[in-house]
Amino acid sequence: MAKFIIYFFCVSLAIILLAGSLISVKMLGGPPLEIKPVTVPTVMGKQNNITFHFIDKGAGIRQIDACLIQGRKTVALGGKVFPSKSWWRGTGIKNQMLSWRVDPLSLGLSQGKAIFRITTRDASWRDDFKGDEKIWQSEVTIDTIPPAITVLSSINDMITGGSGLISYKTNKEVSRTGVWVNNLFFPGYPRTHGSNEFIALIAIPFDAVRPKLYIEATDMAGNIARAGFPYKILYRRPNVDRIEITDGFLDQKLPEFTSRYPELTGKTPVEIFLQINSKLRRENEEEIRKICSLNTSPEIMWQGPFMALKGAARAGFADERHYFYNGKEISQANHMGIDIAALAHFPVPAANSGKVIFTGYIGIYGNTIIIDHGLGLASLYAHLEEFKVNAGDTVKRGTIIGLTDSTGLAGGDHLHYSMLVNGVFVNPIEWLDGNWIKGHITDKLPAE
Ligand SMILES: [Zn+2]
Repeated sequence: MAKFIIYFFCVSLAIILLAGSLISVKMLGGPPLEIKPVTVPTVMGKQNNITFHFIDKGAGIRQIDACLIQGRKTVALGGKVFPSKSWWRGTGIKNQMLSWRVDPLSLGLSQGKAIFRITTRDASWRDDFKGDEKIWQSEVTIDTIPPAITVLSSINDMITGGSGLISYKTNKEVSRTGVWVNNLFFPGYPRTHGSNEFIALIAIPFDAVRPKLYIEATDMAGNIARAGFPYKILYRRPNVDRIEITDGFLDQKLPEFTSRYPELTGKTPVEIFLQINSKLRRENEEEIRKICSLNTSPEIMWQGPFMALKGAARAGFADERHYFYNGKEISQANHMGIDIAALAHFPVPAANSGKVIFTGYIGIYGNTIIIDHGLGLASLYAHLEEFKVNAGDTVKRGTIIGLTDSTGLAGGDHLHYSMLVNGVFVNPIEWLDGNWIKGHITDKLPAE
């Protein structure tokens, strides 16, 4: 019996010691709570989202609090308290994301410097069972005043389908700025690196009706300023053109499309043409818009007037084309460039200095080259036979980039030449004219 009691006592002691050591490892030791900032602004505007990630691999997270301190003032931003599951298990909260939405002015804080502080405690028994305290803090600047915008360019006469340049300056650093033309945004680029003077090339869409234009600038704290500027827009009516779609044309062109776009098979030739001229055309324009707006240089790369292929002008910008088949109108589209016909397989020069940002096949445009000229300005060459350049090449005005052909939706060998501002098609005729460029672009640039 005595033996059994000693045996029982020893086993119990071993169990108590083992459990105690497990609990004490968890409740007394373990790695410290980690405070990881996810989003913390360095400048606070009117509305700020602050997010932190908390990790505790020991007894768990007990309490999280945040506050803003400015001089002698401390404003609590709230936090969270986690209850203990039991005295030996802690809270069991190992991972916690917490966000605060902070409006410093409504909390009675003023413009200027402040300290953002996070205080945490874990569920361990350290520090007289109150848990281990950890603090994370950083300096922030409270700034809820929107930037001031001063317009520098004075005369802003533009034409529908045309381009323009707006220059302006802000009184502080901005995170995003540009000019809105209705719902189209044209980014403003610093005149020189790090400068608060900006230039934005803009486009007035050919079909814009009474567009609203204004400059917008968002500072580092997210404060947004908007400013109008004087402008005048002349309305240019596109030419109207009638195009006969013949069976010969369909027989000649459709195989190129049905071989590339399997979804076109099983339809009549006219149905295929309609799908190419509407849906595919829209998809192609969207692809071009993306290529141009995502790959532009923040510097002006061109100089002097743009040059076009020498040849006979065949179609103008934004021409309103009505397509007829067997005497009946079946489709409509606007022609987003100019057509120039020379000899077949004629060498095509780059219109100005820039960087090739695309060579490839784009549906109705066939084999296409796009050159970026900086600040969102691009030139596009379509229906080509072959490419003499590759994407990434820099070219000079006049460099031969390819040969003309009739790839894509072209009835005969010619060059389709387009120009775009931030992905919006504009009338190339303006950019071919040195006087127009001087009056509307270069004279409006602020001095460097
Ligand atoms: Zn064309």
